[in-house]
Amino acid sequence: MEEQNHTLDSALSVNSGIDQPPSVDKKAVLRFIRKKKSILPAKEYIDGVLGGNRTLLSQAITLIESQLPDHSIIAQEIIAGCLPYSGNAIRIGITGVPGVGKSSFIEMLGTYLTNQGRKLAVLAIDPSSEKSGGSILGDKTRMENLSNDPLAFIRPSPAAGSLGGVARKTRETMILCEAAGFNVVFIETVGVGQSETAVHSMVDFFLLLMLAGAGDELQGIKRGIMEMADAIAITKADGNNVRASEIACGEYRNALHLFPLSESGWVPKVIAISARENRGSDTLAGIFAEYFDHVKASGFLERRRMEQSKEWMYSTIRENLLADFFHDHTIARRIKEVEKMVMEGRQTSWQGAKKLLEIYRRKE
Ligand code: GDP
Repeated sequence: MEEQNHTLDSALSVNSGIDQPPSVDKKAVLRFIRKKKSILPAKEYIDGVLGGNRTLLSQAITLIESQLPDHSIIAQEIIAGCLPYSGNAIRIGITGVPGVGKSSFIEMLGTYLTNQGRKLAVLAIDPSSEKSGGSILGDKTRMENLSNDPLAFIRPSPAAGSLGGVARKTRETMILCEAAGFNVVFIETVGVGQSETAVHSMVDFFLLLMLAGAGDELQGIKRGIMEMADAIAITKADGNNVRASEIACGEYRNALHLFPLSESGWVPKVIAISARENRGSDTLAGIFAEYFDHVKASGFLERRRMEQSKEWMYSTIRENLLADFFHDHTIARRIKEVEKMVMEGRQTSWQGAKKLLEIYRRKE
């Protein structure tokens, strides 16, 4: 049906029996015009965000997530305008394997915090969403109560791009959320790869959720991730699982003792929680309070955020340089041929890389 209209409306109609030439996708054009039209000046988004207007906040985040260069320019203006008003939230990273109970936990702790009048933003970094085409994290349907809570704002992971790109967008979204007055930010990720490091580089406190297993407590989680944790929470400590959870707590405490003391001087905590029985929120809120008192008094929090900002500048440079390189027309034309030579052993990897970099720098 749509195809027919398309043909009728086209100025390029040709005689029957001859293939219709490709025509402009009108829907895409309309979408584009609508998008173009609806973009406001940056100042309006900034004022909206600072005034706590959720519609404008969501629209501004959509601009951050957009791939269009026009959108990036305005998004950067909005972020710059919001930056002086950001930084006032406590930033908590939450990770754990799928099924560990992240969304149930966020629902429980989030509701506890909003009941105390805290304003909570839940963001996510889900590098798998690019492949699956949809985000499994930060999804509103996973957190029914919170998504209807006027003090909570839930935003799924940006879907497109490299992990670095996705992480940058989440970080920029966090800045906007803080400027909008959210004073607690949760950043959720799946405990399966590099994304924990990305989350760790933008939060103040890193919480690892773990399941109590039958004797395999220390398996399946990389040492590096455990080393980043400021607290480990053993989930589903209810019913038949209570005893196993207590044992797991003991084992993790012992394991953490073997790690060198972190730079902050904070000793990571291990607790057992249950979203089903609504247990653990008060203990965790107490741990957050103790941690933030500690790192604020020592100056560590400020130092860490300064370091993080610096690191983000460098990672943005790296990301941009890489994108520039791979989007370069000459590189795109020559890369396969050089790649082939390297694969066939006619050039070393180093020579291949050098050659492409020279082409990129127009030395060839
Ligand atoms: P996620 O994939 O890490 O977000 O995990 P979910 O929160 O979706 O939980 C995965 C499964 O574990 C679901 O079937 C939950 O009902 C269950 N679950 C979550 N929290 C608890 C808990 O505290 N106790 C028990 N017994 N089950 C839980």
